[in-house]
Amino acid sequence: MIQILPVDIQRLIAAGEVITRPLDVVRELIDNALDASATRIDIELSGGGLTAISVKDNGSGIPAEELAKAPLRHATSKIQNMQDVHAIRTLGFRGEALWSIAYAGYLQITTRPQHQLGGTELFAFQDRVRVAPTACPAGTRVTVMKLFEELPARLRIQMQPSSEYRDIIMLVGRYILHHPQVSFKLVLDGELKFQHVSSDLIHAVGTVFGPLSANRMMNVQTPMVQGVISRPELTRPRRDRMHLSVNGRPIQATNELENAIISGYGEFLPANQAPTCILNLTLPPETLDVNIHPTKTQVAFQNLSEVLEALKTAVRDSLLQHPLAQSAPLPK
Ligand code: ADP
Ligand code: MG
Repeated sequence: MIQILPVDIQRLIAAGEVITRPLDVVRELIDNALDASATRIDIELSGGGLTAISVKDNGSGIPAEELAKAPLRHATSKIQNMQDVHAIRTLGFRGEALWSIAYAGYLQITTRPQHQLGGTELFAFQDRVRVAPTACPAGTRVTVMKLFEELPARLRIQMQPSSEYRDIIMLVGRYILHHPQVSFKLVLDGELKFQHVSSDLIHAVGTVFGPLSANRMMNVQTPMVQGVISRPELTRPRRDRMHLSVNGRPIQATNELENAIISGYGEFLPANQAPTCILNLTLPPETLDVNIHPTKTQVAFQNLSEVLEALKTAVRDSLLQHPLAQSAPLPK
């Protein structure tokens, strides 16, 4: 017999698609903090994220009269009309993250905009929402407790806390690399994993990959390609430290893009080795087809061959400028 599911089951299933693991919560909350122009983001987890996840920022805060709307489905302050949909500059816009989180666990938000004297506190679980005044610093703190307690099927398939933490460390590392001007702190079960103080990209490399790597990076600065790349002596057998963004938005590096960068190194990179690089491509938005689904990080370039050539040339020119390269010219 085919039947339409009751509304509360529909909601549980839909929420379970956006939030499938603690890492999803962390990503959504960091995106929200960045969208609120935070310059400081503190992340803390316990019990692999299943006991508690807390993300605190010093961003814009949520006005008292708006807070109750935040965990409603399709409630967003980021877009208003069709035009906005085609010119999205924020990381979020669908108004589903807090809604999904409130279905996956117990959501608590304390928040205060700079200009507002008192703060506001919200507790939400499924469609029950309670809001009350409270005292708190400017900015927003979101806490999620007992994730998936009401979704036993979801809870059963969670990874070991250590595996979840390993992926979350990589995730937060990527945010640090793409937003070096923001201070990040990551604490897992009381243990400090990252403490990044707002600075430049080379420092961010130091925070995430260690000072040895940071000391071996070179700047790349062309109209289309900006960032840092490793000197040829810092190689890796895997391509796991090749990070790319387009107009500030992290993307999944494709083989083609990685190969273009590696070909810029020419013979300076031993065969089957990969560099460390964090590069942003600045491109006219109308030449990109960005899939606007937020978890999809693929981009289709209208002028792919131009982009590949620009990457290769930017890498090669940067290497050529290095004093060590002067004595040994790079292959064409
Ligand atoms: P979206 O990010 O797609 O708009 P969310 O469910 O993630 O949807 O958040 C809903 C709304 O709550 C946001 O549009 C924003 O107005 C507000 N909000 C959420 N987190 C924060 C935050 N950390 N600081 C300021 N406002 C926030
Ligand atoms: Mg969001």
